[in-house]
Amino acid sequence: MSDPLLVVDQLTMHFPVRKGLLRRVVGAVRAVDNVSFSIARGQTLGLVGESGCGKTTVGRSILRLLPPTAGSVHFDGLDVLAQSPRALRAMRRRMQIVFQDPYGSLNPRLSVRSILEEGLIVHRMGDAAERLHRMTTALDRTGMQAGCLDRYPHEFSGGQRQRIAIARALVLEPDFLVLDEPISALDVSIQAQVVNLLVTLREDLGLTYLFISHDLSVIEYVSDHVAVMYLGRIVEQSPAERLYAEPLHPYTLALFSAVPSIDPARRRGRIVLPGDVPSPSRPPSGCRFHPRCPLAETICRDIDPPGVTVDGHLVHCHVAARELDRAGGNASSAALRMAELVAKTLDKSASEDSLASPSH
Ligand code: SF4
Repeated sequence: MSDPLLVVDQLTMHFPVRKGLLRRVVGAVRAVDNVSFSIARGQTLGLVGESGCGKTTVGRSILRLLPPTAGSVHFDGLDVLAQSPRALRAMRRRMQIVFQDPYGSLNPRLSVRSILEEGLIVHRMGDAAERLHRMTTALDRTGMQAGCLDRYPHEFSGGQRQRIAIARALVLEPDFLVLDEPISALDVSIQAQVVNLLVTLREDLGLTYLFISHDLSVIEYVSDHVAVMYLGRIVEQSPAERLYAEPLHPYTLALFSAVPSIDPARRRGRIVLPGDVPSPSRPPSGCRFHPRCPLAETICRDIDPPGVTVDGHLVHCHVAARELDRAGGNASSAALRMAELVAKTLDKSASEDSLASPSH
């Protein structure tokens, strides 16, 4: 990737599980395991997956809001995890986060002025007049007026609060934003406005985004690259266009099948996965997706599939790797074959079900 601003390598985050009076560690919740990716300057990586798959933990670990168990994070060539508290504070000015819930993320006791000014004071950015200029500029960029500076969060709608939260991040003139489900708590009617605002800001200010969402349509709209997560791991990663045209991993195929499309070429039969996502405190052996995968084979239970990359399209799946090999590295043919295999398996199990339970 040309000129990456952020490089995440083998990032791992395990939370200890404690029990008993002595609070002994009896296990670990493996929220994130060996996650690697990079984001080029001015680009957006979309991180997608079901809730609880570890997306939010990845975003927070990158900013060291949670201390990772292992792995490395480099921002603009600097090792984020090795920074002293003082150096980290300086770095945080350049790496900001916008949280999902604009109700919870803004202190209801503080005016918008205090909320925006807090970071400027901490980072010693300008005198009072300059701080005011920075605050009104940030508000203007997010479509809010300077008149709201002396009002309180409860006086605004959800969409306006999220604009204020974005202004709070922008006021520090960052280079990189983690957008953690920035629209999922908003009314559907204003989600598109906030997404368009984020896209415009990225272009105007040359920002770089990690955009976390469970919504595949939003991720497609905003992302240059997409990484799909399942149970703490990235299972597929590729330039966005290619991933949406040629998904290779059975889990990605299942996610796509649940998205309604008006384009007949993109309509896919619905793949309903059996069971629930297993607990990250006891992840399945081998491929973590095997208990729910329609294509699971014996090898999938025993061996964790290594990553295979073709033209920047990475997939962790034994069957997809075999199909890529058979197709001579042609991802389009392999993707077609994967979709056929999944459809065939589902048809077969549907006909077996109907034979097993004949109607009386
Ligand atoms: Fe399914 Fe096996 Fe591929 Fe995992 S490795 S996604 S279980 S086919």
